[in-house]
Amino acid sequence: MVPRRVSILGSTGSVGCNTIDLIERQPERYEIEALTANRNVALLAEQARRLRPRLAVIGDEERFGALKEALAGSGIEVAAGAAALIEAAQRPADWLMAAIVGAAGLEPTLAALHRGAIVALANKECLVCAGDLMMHEVARSGATLLPVDSEHNAIFQVFDFDRPEAIERIILTASGGPFRTLDRAVMAHVTPAQAVAHPNWSMGAKISVDSATMMNKGLELIEAHHLFGLAAERIEVLIHPQSVVHSLVAYVDGSLLAQLGTPDMRTPIAYTLGWPERMPAPAERLDLAALGQLSFEPPDFEHFPALRLARQALQSGGAAPTILNAANEVAVAGFLGGEFGFLEIASIVEETLATMPLDKPASLDAVFALDTEARGVAQALIARFRDRL
Ligand code: NAD
Ligand code: MG
Repeated sequence: MVPRRVSILGSTGSVGCNTIDLIERQPERYEIEALTANRNVALLAEQARRLRPRLAVIGDEERFGALKEALAGSGIEVAAGAAALIEAAQRPADWLMAAIVGAAGLEPTLAALHRGAIVALANKECLVCAGDLMMHEVARSGATLLPVDSEHNAIFQVFDFDRPEAIERIILTASGGPFRTLDRAVMAHVTPAQAVAHPNWSMGAKISVDSATMMNKGLELIEAHHLFGLAAERIEVLIHPQSVVHSLVAYVDGSLLAQLGTPDMRTPIAYTLGWPERMPAPAERLDLAALGQLSFEPPDFEHFPALRLARQALQSGGAAPTILNAANEVAVAGFLGGEFGFLEIASIVEETLATMPLDKPASLDAVFALDTEARGVAQALIARFRDRL
């Protein structure tokens, strides 16, 4: 069997490390082309010494010297900076994991799509901020886009792509995060540490905060719209606190097809890494009898305004999803930095959206300009918040 040549963008993150965990269980099946990280030189170098990629890239240019030193004598090529991240994605890997967090992953992910690679997409923010451009690139290049996000991966597994007319709607499940049952008055005072402590999933800080505000599900609505080509009205959200039913597809005959499993990202990652074959993954097996019951409830858009904002952004289209994503990235970083309270995250996003015109960005440059402008507006709002505090 010819080994699959793979690259991992964001190899030091939660999804990146889970991907490496799977690869190291069957190392003979893979050749590593490139690994990339943003700042964590020590972990990137350790991964590189174990996996022997041809190229290791650190995003932060100031850490180039440190990476070079850490990999001295290894024979592994090292590089740094934004252009090097794009180059890593351009290198000839058959399969690429896009697991950078945020819109920072957009250009490298597009570069991999551009050359027609199989792209396992964890980085949902790039679909939110430039979904039309990305899907256009997939169609143009013939790239294969495989969703890693557990909900979209579940839908992908049960979605009849040959008979899209038979599909009525899709249902994204959501755990509701750590604050599902908390009063908003109490929510106002939660700490970053409480917000990142997700009840079911172990993930990076940004997506954990997004899960706590439920902006994550909002981003996933927009992600699903692009991946499966369904209008906003045909994508539902269903609260399911146990995170066992990962999502569902509803067919015109009344059938609901779902994918189930324990909450372990190695299952959806393995689905993409082995694709089109199934490969073994070590996730704990689901014991439905031991679990006894599963529960479901409708989402509360008042309790979680971020979810409402994202749905509105999807409905209005144009610039709204790009602005939503940019403002949310800034707001989450500010909350994690202790600059303001948890409830302010959605307020900053809402005010940023209200301040900016919603004309659709027609090119990649326009998306970047809009993203930069929205970050500036959100920062200015934060400065005003701070003055008020
Ligand atoms: P993380 O914070 O744990 O890791 C992010 C990775 O991206 C790290 O390797 C980091 O070095 C790199 N990175 C961060 N900023 C960068 C920049 N500006 N330039 C280049 N590289 C940069 O995040 P994560 O939890 O692994 O999530 C990664 C992506 O996958 C996110 O878009 C998230 O929404 C999505 N996702 C994650 C999970 C999960 O279980 N963690 C599940 C579904 C989707
Ligand atoms: Mg998800």
